[in-house]
Amino acid sequence: IRAQDSFMSIDSRGFLSNCAIKKDRNVISCEDVKEPTNTADADIEEAVTTSRPLAVRGQGNYMYLDDGREILDSCGGAAVACLGHGVQEVINAMMSQAADISYVPWGFFENRAKLALAQWLSRSSGGHFQKTYITCSGSEAVEGAMKLAREYFVWKGQPQRVNYISREESYHGITIGSLSLGGHLSRRAPFEDLLLSKIYRIPACNAYRQQRQGETDTAYVARKALELENMFQKLGPETVVAFIAEPVVGAASGCIPSVPGYIKAMKAICDKHGALFILDEVMCGMGRTGTTHAWEQEGVMPDIQTIGKGLAGGYQPVSAILVGKKVFQEMEMKNATFTHGHTYQDHPIGCAAALQVQQIIQRDNLLSNVQIQGSLLAKLLKEKLGGHPHVGDIRGRGLFWGIEFVEDKETKRPFEPTLQISHRVHDAAMAPPNNLAIYYGQGCAGDKKGDHVMIMPAYNIDRATIEVIVDKTVAAVQKVFAKLH
Ligand code: PLP
Repeated sequence: IRAQDSFMSIDSRGFLSNCAIKKDRNVISCEDVKEPTNTADADIEEAVTTSRPLAVRGQGNYMYLDDGREILDSCGGAAVACLGHGVQEVINAMMSQAADISYVPWGFFENRAKLALAQWLSRSSGGHFQKTYITCSGSEAVEGAMKLAREYFVWKGQPQRVNYISREESYHGITIGSLSLGGHLSRRAPFEDLLLSKIYRIPACNAYRQQRQGETDTAYVARKALELENMFQKLGPETVVAFIAEPVVGAASGCIPSVPGYIKAMKAICDKHGALFILDEVMCGMGRTGTTHAWEQEGVMPDIQTIGKGLAGGYQPVSAILVGKKVFQEMEMKNATFTHGHTYQDHPIGCAAALQVQQIIQRDNLLSNVQIQGSLLAKLLKEKLGGHPHVGDIRGRGLFWGIEFVEDKETKRPFEPTLQISHRVHDAAMAPPNNLAIYYGQGCAGDKKGDHVMIMPAYNIDRATIEVIVDKTVAAVQKVFAKLH
């Protein structure tokens, strides 16, 4: 629990070399901070020559560039900065942990921050999650979840289960396994020949694009369930390891919530065939949609879940694999160990940051703010952009909202990819004096068409800032289409 008395030195890529962090009771002070070294200066100079703006500071909902510009951050990167920037309590928690002990090899020791975070995550599911693996990125978590699901069936004596079912228009990460699961075709394209072969995709759940005129949610869900059932039958139900889905699709197609009843119906089919049900909540989880887990709004619990992004709010790279009762019990019964592990697994500073972020969300009742400000965001976006001739759909949940652009609103025909509409909206949003950071995406579907932007601000945002975000978004959209016509 302690590295070396109460002092330690940090060398953070030359920026803070020889900074002694002194922990005196609960007060942490930074002494002896040296000026950046020449190497660091040179690194910064090199970075400045790149085409991206240089962000040097962040506070609350704002990021500051080296040229002094103040950028309103409406998306926290890809839904990461759930508390905004520069929260001192989180920084203190990280420094305190670093002063105690900054690295604990997980294979030989436990660490307190990890144990506390795992306990917090288990409680968040009413005890359903009984084991937690803390990883660094969402891709690692998904890759690990895939492997854990397979090994579960090895423990169970069903090694014939080798196939996975996932969905089109989904994104599960960028490493080979997670990329193979995802249906984000433009990100897969250069690597298509390398991707895993035992993964089969069914169509997405996308009400705007698929639900027929007059078709009820129940009928649409039944149609979707049949697609999954048919895939099980095609592969042989006894060969399927798991079905994986995002309850609200993020990066692939822009905040598309599942139709009510869909997640429950898909889980029922997995249960019927003895396959595992994995939810990827890396982007939509940890409060983003107004409940800690998006599945709380669906009335089902996954067998395995992945989380990331908002877990530690970007203060540290932290993600997790959460293991539900069924898988954990099999593991316990067989006295089995998951054949998996990363050097930086269960990293104490990451765990300390994540725990502090989650405690702040709970203490400050921020999920309620997500619901309140989310409703306002939805209302204003629909009021101010719903009638726009090129805004096809505005959808989302909590503080997770997407705007889809179409060339023809009647037929829902997307724009030609070469026009790069969503990219242009992003650029117009960022251009001074608008200074708004907004997330954009394009070309996930087979024809590489489809443009969307996503608004995913911090959970502690206030009403006035929501209004400014909407006004700046509207200004950017109007500017882009005024130029196009
Ligand atoms: N899963 C989902 C649903 C995601 O949205 C993402 C990233 O956007 C990932 C996995 C991969 O996470 P990372 O980029 O941290 O590897």
